[in-house]
Amino acid sequence: MAKYRIAVIPGDGIGKEVMPEGIRVLDTIAARFGIEFTWDHLDWSCDRYHSDGAMMPADGLDTIKGHDAIYLGAVGWPTVPDHVSLWELLIPIRRDFQQYVNLRPVRLFDGVPCPLAGRPEIDFWIVRENNEGEYSEIGGRLYAGTDAEMAVQQNVFTRRGVDRVMRYAFELAKSRPNKHLTSATKSNGIIHTMPFWDERFKVMGEAYPEVRTDQYHIDILTAHFVRNPSRFDVVVGSNLFGDILSDLGPAVTGTIGIAPSANINPERDFPSMFEPVHGSAPDIAGKGIANPIGQIWSGAMMLDHLGHPDAGRAIVKAIERVLTQPELLTPDMGGKATTAGLGKAVADAL
Ligand code: ATP
Ligand code: MG
Repeated sequence: MAKYRIAVIPGDGIGKEVMPEGIRVLDTIAARFGIEFTWDHLDWSCDRYHSDGAMMPADGLDTIKGHDAIYLGAVGWPTVPDHVSLWELLIPIRRDFQQYVNLRPVRLFDGVPCPLAGRPEIDFWIVRENNEGEYSEIGGRLYAGTDAEMAVQQNVFTRRGVDRVMRYAFELAKSRPNKHLTSATKSNGIIHTMPFWDERFKVMGEAYPEVRTDQYHIDILTAHFVRNPSRFDVVVGSNLFGDILSDLGPAVTGTIGIAPSANINPERDFPSMFEPVHGSAPDIAGKGIANPIGQIWSGAMMLDHLGHPDAGRAIVKAIERVLTQPELLTPDMGGKATTAGLGKAVADAL
């Protein structure tokens, strides 16, 4: 029996609604694959911030650093500023635990309405740098309230940081049948960090002659995501570009509600974290209609990371089958089903 201790952070809004469906499916598959999960539920959230003045306990990260993984719903709420909810919970977990790869599959499933004409085949991965780049704390504001007022923000790209995420992306591309890696850049406008990013892409690629590479400026790359998504296999981007692409990717596959993500520490010094791409969705929270597939698929990625790719694949197969049945779809996919109804359908399909 393989035993895993998982830190569970449902978070806010629909995070609290989709998490039970993720756990339902993982408990169902665990029994079949000789896996035993212990779920440690944590109330780290904006609710906690309102009652205790902090998103998580001061020693929070210490208490979960020995866990096998972190399973997260969604964090953030309109009553709490982003610089609190994001920078006091999500970003410390990603950075302290060196989860420098943010991995996001983008796939168009049969049965899910697609906004693109002709339903192109869409099946690729986005590898986003998750620890540095544009999302830095270096910068500030000067001369407030005067005509000379300005804001300055510095990007930080280190050779270590860029090389390690590119290595991961090249390894992933090498493992895929098409062996094709695309880099997102903007070296014509961002003239210091992006040329460095391009340079490291070229150097790192020398160790992977079997991987075909290309690069696009982020502006035209977003256009290709919409006009020509079939051309992509693996796409690597900086923190900001990867963030933008990984909202756009799921949007062209019908709904952000199905998209999963993994925040990975490939060296396994610390736990990795698995969470849907979407946020807490205040506009639909409390209605029981959120799509739970992003949470469930994130659970499949967690199984993959823990060394059970067969179990992860079985979940994805179950998702594939369920999504072809219109009566099981939630409203974001054009149906009338509930969060619990769709979650149960996936568990039953297993
Ligand atoms: P964040 O800043 O946390 O990424 P966001 O502002 O990008 O959040 P989301 O919370 O992801 O926003 O919501 C964006 C839109 O997508 C909303 O209209 C929301 O209702 C919808 N949405 C997000 N997740 C789901 C889901 N699981 N099921 C159905 N609709 C969803
Ligand atoms: Mg978002």
